[in-house]
This record gives sequence, C-alpha cells and structure tokens, in this order.
Amino acid sequence: MSNNLQSSSRPTRPAVAWIGLGIMGSPMSENLIKAGYDVTGFTLEQDKLDRLTAAGGTAAKSIAEAVKDADVIVTMVPASPQVEAIAYGPDGILENAKSGALIVDMSSITPQTSVDLAKNAKEKGIRVIDAPVSGGEAGAIEAVLSIMVGGEQADFDEAKPLLDALGKTIVLCGPHGSGQTVKAANQLIVAVNIQACAEAVVFLEKSGVDLKAALDVLNGGLAGSTVLTRKKDNFLNRDFKPGFRIDLHHKDMGIVTDAARNVGAALPVGGVVAQLVASLRAQGDGGLDHSALLRSVERLSGNQVA
Ligand code: NAD
Repeated sequence: MSNNLQSSSRPTRPAVAWIGLGIMGSPMSENLIKAGYDVTGFTLEQDKLDRLTAAGGTAAKSIAEAVKDADVIVTMVPASPQVEAIAYGPDGILENAKSGALIVDMSSITPQTSVDLAKNAKEKGIRVIDAPVSGGEAGAIEAVLSIMVGGEQADFDEAKPLLDALGKTIVLCGPHGSGQTVKAANQLIVAVNIQACAEAVVFLEKSGVDLKAALDVLNGGLAGSTVLTRKKDNFLNRDFKPGFRIDLHHKDMGIVTDAARNVGAALPVGGVVAQLVASLRAQGDGGLDHSALLRSVERLSGNQVA
C-alpha cells in the first residue's frame, strides 16, 4: 500500500468511525483509508456503504455498531437535526461510544448545536470538536479542504494528524462552536461571491462579450476568486449538478443571518442573497448546485430558463 513509508514513522492510528457518507463524507473517508486509517462507516444509503467497502473500509449496520470500538468518530451529515439524531438517544453516538472517544463533527450546523453537543458529550466522558470544512466536493476529493475548528487545544492536537489527511488549512478558531461561526462567515462570503459572479455572467452575455474569455481575464485580476475558479465551468455549461446543494446553502444562510442577529451584526447584502437563495429553492431548484444562483439572475433578467 502507498502508506507504508508513512506508517513506519507514525504511531498506531486511532480506529475511526465515520457517520454520513454523502457528497463530502465519501471522498473524505476514502482519503483517511488511503492514509492508513481503519474506517468503519454508517450512512443511510446502501450504495454509499458499498462504496466504502470497495475503498477498503468496513460497513456497519448501525451507528452503535460503527462507533462501539472507535477512538475517533467523524460525523458529516447535513444539518443540526441530523447531528442531533445521530448523537442522542439510545441508538446514538453518546450512548454507544467508548468513554474517552473524540467526536470530530465536520457537518455545518448552528454554533449552539455544537456547544450543546460538547456539553452533553462531556457528561459521558466523550470529547467533541466542531470541524466544519470549506472547499467543496473537489476540495474533499483532493484533500485540500479548509477546516475551521472549535474546541479544546488538546483535542485539536489529537485530531490534527487525521485532519491533515483531509485538508490543507486547518485552524483552531476558539472554543466549542467557533468553527461553526467561522464556517457561517465562509458561507456568507461564498454566497455573495457566487451571486456577484452570476450577475456578471448575465451582464456579459447580454452585452455580447465572449463569456469564457471574460471569465478567464476576470479571474486573473482582483475580481478573481476560488468561487470563480471552481464554478466557472458550471456557469459556462449551465451544469448545475451538485456540488453543494442550494438546500444546504439555504440552511447555512439561515445559520449566518440568525447568528449575526444574535450578536448585533448587520448583513445587508447577505440578507438579500439569503432571500435569493430561498427564492431559488422555492422555485424547485433546491437540489441543484449553488452556482444555480445564475438561474435566478437569468429569470430576473427575462431570460428563458429551462
Ligand atoms: P449529503 O446530503 O450528500 O450527505 C449527507 C449524508 O448524511 C448522507 O449520505 C446521509 O445518508 C447521511 N445521514 C443523514 N442522516 C443520517 C443518519 N441519521 N444516520 C446516518 N447517516 C445519515 O451532504 P454533503 O454535501 O456531503 O454535506 C454534508 C455536510 O457538509 C453539510 O453540513 C454541508 O453543509 C457540509 N458541506 C458540504 C459541502 C459540499 O460541497 N457538498 C462543502 C462544505 C461543507
């Protein structure tokens, strides 16, 4: 295996349970397997469990079975209700994990859910860090995610080698919930950036400019961005296969607008973009990639949208 060189210089790796093998969780768990970790996974779709097995992991039949022997439990599910569903109750992680285990919750959820989870887990002798990510499906596949962490320094240090197999920029941002607060800011910036790009695309096309040439030169200047690099082809080809679903970005815009209101921060542009995301979803586009904000600008500009 390709990890032999590394394994001679590293101590034994912790046994990992992985809950949530979706667009992000599947490639991320596969990167852990490639790095030499034993990964036992559970998720709701059988095809994703088959994919884990094919990659060298072990498919569990339940959360309890996945976590019972795990040292580290990584969770990557859609939102706060799913994190609560997998963590709590007789079949959940807290009832079935070993005392001393470390939960690394990589889902993007409300900061308060992370704070509450850490508190409830502590009563069971289980530690938690919140570790949401940015970088999208491509970043997950390429193991170059940005990972924003909230929690204790010692738990961050313990998780760092594992996180190194998943991402490139890995930062402890503060106490429990801080990773989620930074992720909320990330989603604000990304949504506003996509919206600006989408408006530029419609403006450029209606003006008769070569769109590909325009986006290439724009991306080399101050208007350039990771969003434009990653989403340029989605705009050019009207390819809105997710990626990152509008449904999830709608959830994140709810998190950031709520969290900002709680601390008295005004988000005037973010508020408008949150409405545009909500509107796109209401029009039935919730399952599309967030670059589909372009469809909304097109509709507003009188274009026919299929
Ligand atoms: P997804 O919908 O593709 O995958 C979610 C997975 O969670 C599914 O496989 C589902 O089976 C599993 N799940 C849900 N409830 C479960 C339960 N009760 N028990 C076991 N498994 C359960 O979502 P995704 O795109 O992978 O996103 C996951 C998280 O990562 C979200 O919080 C999202 O906001 C965040 N995120 C996504 C991206 C992206 O580009 N897709 C980028 C950064 C962050």
